[in-house]
Amino acid sequence: MTEHMFLSGLYFGKCALAAAGQDDHLAAQKVRIHACRRDDGGYAGNEVYPSHLLYTYSAVQLAILYNQPELLDADALEAFVWSRLLPSGAYYGNDPSDTDTRFSYCALATLALVDKLQPEAINVRQAGEFVLACQNDDGGFGLRPGCESHAGQTFCCVAALQLCGLLEKANHDTLKGFLLRRQQADGGFNGRPEKASDGCYAWWVLATMAILGPSVLGAIDKAAAIKALFRLQTPAGGFSPRPDESPDLFHTHFAIAALGVLGHESVAPMDPCFCVPRTALQRYRRSLDQTQATTTDAS
Ligand SMILES: [Zn+2]
Repeated sequence: MTEHMFLSGLYFGKCALAAAGQDDHLAAQKVRIHACRRDDGGYAGNEVYPSHLLYTYSAVQLAILYNQPELLDADALEAFVWSRLLPSGAYYGNDPSDTDTRFSYCALATLALVDKLQPEAINVRQAGEFVLACQNDDGGFGLRPGCESHAGQTFCCVAALQLCGLLEKANHDTLKGFLLRRQQADGGFNGRPEKASDGCYAWWVLATMAILGPSVLGAIDKAAAIKALFRLQTPAGGFSPRPDESPDLFHTHFAIAALGVLGHESVAPMDPCFCVPRTALQRYRRSLDQTQATTTDAS
């Protein structure tokens, strides 16, 4: 059932292990990243599927975790990302009717990580203005203008706005209110009003707060949030969405990442925008600089 999203699954597993200090696992799976690359420059979720922005971003995150910027062709990635932008500023997935602010975040983050994001460029501006139009009166963001606010989309939109230099234009007062209201009596976080808390929302909410700044993140009950996350760890080792449910790779990854944003000593500090350990991102950037310097010398 999950074969078509192999590349994202590999990212969830590799990132959770790296954040927990188990960096040298899953080395053999690295070869499969290249096999998921398509002729249009994007990446598919697995070998026989078409390219998609979601899996393209997973491939870039994996290049960070494996510290292999040379796996990526920055020009081809840039061409693929722009091929998915509509005149409205929205990004689409499989076909132009399938627009979603998750794709805007994946597109802009991909460009940023291969040094192809120029905030002053007209198409970046267009993409940012579309994301801004998705903020609702309650402060949260939806998947398109006028769609219901949701913590997952709010993370994607806030991170996208930060990447394209437009975060200042969002309504920060209502946004902070929307995020603070997500922490529930059990210490966990929900994605929308009236929903039960769920481990992955700890990441979406806390990472968004971390992007906005330490004073926003400092306003939640951190001890209760950590307790709620550890209640989700199961005897099988992984984390489940809610207590007494089955663990899965997605919720294990995001629970560990949330602990990393909270500064828990068992987990490496996480970059809130790109969802990889900060040390892995710094190592990748140094490697990327060296690769670019070698290319310049050669030419
Ligand atoms: Zn969840």
